[in-house]
Amino acid sequence: MDPVSNERFDRTVTTTCGYCGVGCRLEANVRGGRIVSVAPALDGPANEGHTCLKGRFAHQFTRSRDRLTSPLVRENGELRPASWEEALHRIVSELQRIKSEHGPDAIAGLASSRATNEDCYAMARLIRAAIGTNNIDNCSRVCHSPTSFAMRKSFGLSGATGSFSDIDHADVAILIGVNPTQGHPVVGARIKQAALRGCKLVTIDPRRIELADYGVLHLANRPGTNAAVALGLAHVVRRDGLTDESFIAERTNGYDAVQELLDAYTPQAVQEITGIPAADLERAAHIYGEAGSASILWGLGVTEHKYGSEVVQLLCNLALMTGKVGKRGSALLPLRGQNNVQGSSDMGALPDTYTAYRRVDDEDTARSFEEAWGVPLSRKVGYKIPEMFDAAIAGDLKAMYIFGEDIAHTDPDTAHVVKALESLEFVVCQEIFENETTKYADVVLPASAFLEKSGTFINAERRFQLVEAAIDPPGGARTDFDIITTVSRMLGHEMGWETPWDALDEVSRLTPHYRGVSRERIGRSGAQWPMHPDGSDSPTLYDTFFDNPTGKGHFAVLPFKAPGDAPDREFPLVLVTGRVLQHYNAGTMTRRTHNVDLVDRDWLEIHPTDAQRLWISDGDKVSIRSRVGQTELHARITERIEPGHVFTSFHFPEARTNLLIGQSADVNTSCPEYKVVAVDVRPMTERPAFTPVLETVS
Ligand code: SF4
Repeated sequence: MDPVSNERFDRTVTTTCGYCGVGCRLEANVRGGRIVSVAPALDGPANEGHTCLKGRFAHQFTRSRDRLTSPLVRENGELRPASWEEALHRIVSELQRIKSEHGPDAIAGLASSRATNEDCYAMARLIRAAIGTNNIDNCSRVCHSPTSFAMRKSFGLSGATGSFSDIDHADVAILIGVNPTQGHPVVGARIKQAALRGCKLVTIDPRRIELADYGVLHLANRPGTNAAVALGLAHVVRRDGLTDESFIAERTNGYDAVQELLDAYTPQAVQEITGIPAADLERAAHIYGEAGSASILWGLGVTEHKYGSEVVQLLCNLALMTGKVGKRGSALLPLRGQNNVQGSSDMGALPDTYTAYRRVDDEDTARSFEEAWGVPLSRKVGYKIPEMFDAAIAGDLKAMYIFGEDIAHTDPDTAHVVKALESLEFVVCQEIFENETTKYADVVLPASAFLEKSGTFINAERRFQLVEAAIDPPGGARTDFDIITTVSRMLGHEMGWETPWDALDEVSRLTPHYRGVSRERIGRSGAQWPMHPDGSDSPTLYDTFFDNPTGKGHFAVLPFKAPGDAPDREFPLVLVTGRVLQHYNAGTMTRRTHNVDLVDRDWLEIHPTDAQRLWISDGDKVSIRSRVGQTELHARITERIEPGHVFTSFHFPEARTNLLIGQSADVNTSCPEYKVVAVDVRPMTERPAFTPVLETVS
């Protein structure tokens, strides 16, 4: 019995939240095979006894009436219930047929950043070893792949340089393109606490985020101009002697070329590009440069741009110039979106790398996996997600096995994604609910949610944490690990694992950075990779050297370039997309909880000046048209958004926000440019009522 609430439980299971990359540890209280309540684990290293309303209350989806509980197969154009035997044989026979007719590269798989490391590792092994191709990717492609690319270039490793606890020790925190109180609420609360204790916050975002109210300075830059902001800050830091010359000399290379580049980015020049008053930029540079310790946090407002990866490199430049990396309180903290977006990539569910970002065309790495798996492996880099869509439309890709990702809802240019799905001969979806993508599936497999499976996640601090099943999957649904290993076995590749912990042991054995990681070692405190030979982990990276052949941090020489889209007479406003506190990503889970009573739709935020000019009143239904698509939303008038910009979230499929997003993408990683879309907004007359209906299994 819970001593506080007098609630009776059969048992309490400690696990890790499956919503965002903070990685809060939770105590799930179970009675009669159902979750009855969830509480924060007091010893959770990332949450220290806190959760947000998603982790604590949004668990009713697990027993929603519309959970998938039986496989579905398509017959005469309709999905119908089928036995596991029929569904699995259909998958295996179709994949074998396509492989023999068109070769293994005609098949691709998507792993899920909501699933465990062990699920993702198994999925990558299924595609690489059982199918024979490197066509495997995950949804980090559409969020933080630019962060991963840039941090490897600048510092060596793909992950935060420090830990959330660095926020507690920072004199200054720069928040750029991130809205933690909505997207990463427990970290958002931690930042508020730090600000109340005296940490100076500088927020940089086209929208006045909530944390701006706790900060000393808010810089509202035009969407797509982050690079100019970073270059302008670096210009002032250098001009005013705020650099750490000994750090630059001893720990970095490439600074001379950067100095030449910075000359052009005077505060006045940056004001022209960004709209930020020159004096505010100078003040921000001094706040950062003069601080004893300062951390930089960013999110998708930095990465989901045409030059998102370059902006991350420029933020790394700023830390290198000032020596603010590898020290307590001076961390670079990319706030990763989904709960395991760090882990799904760390596990090698990517078209070019095995675990820990070792390339598929590196002979030693490929041979080590060939020895472990007992099959020859391709050295050819596979398709990234956008390349999969193009290849499907071109007729080169024939089948996709999509695990835990609703690409027809979340990926940009929905019409293009749908065309790709319609072009494929065979589509498998492994899901917990039917969704926009399952409409195009030939087989749908009922899978498990995070409260129903065991394994590990890796949070945004590089921390392995345990996930323990609190309840069973409903009806005939099975765990993802069980499904993937079974499909692999039926395709002729026996993985040889009985439990996810066996897969974790294999990852540990084959990956130097994760060596020593095990269920026992992770325990309740977690383990932040890279692991050291003595079994200790790494809360802080780069305190003495950077993780590349020279051991030095690398300055990138990258000028500002204009974003892929820009407003004009026909499309005069710039749309920025993001999240709200109450929902997560595609809303698949939170829309099936009481959170929908709090927020029941996506809204279009618009500044009063623009609303007045366009004859839009608060609550009006409006039409939004971009160069590639059109959709409709209800307007919310707010001064949080700057004039000329509009904002919406993308949690409800009926909003169809991604119809508006085009093909523009990050130049290095193909991450879509979700954050700069020129649109035209017009009022509509209708104002329909909306009454959410919440159904749960009784
Ligand atoms: Fe923590 Fe994120 Fe889960 Fe909220 S959604 S409880 S912040 S991990």
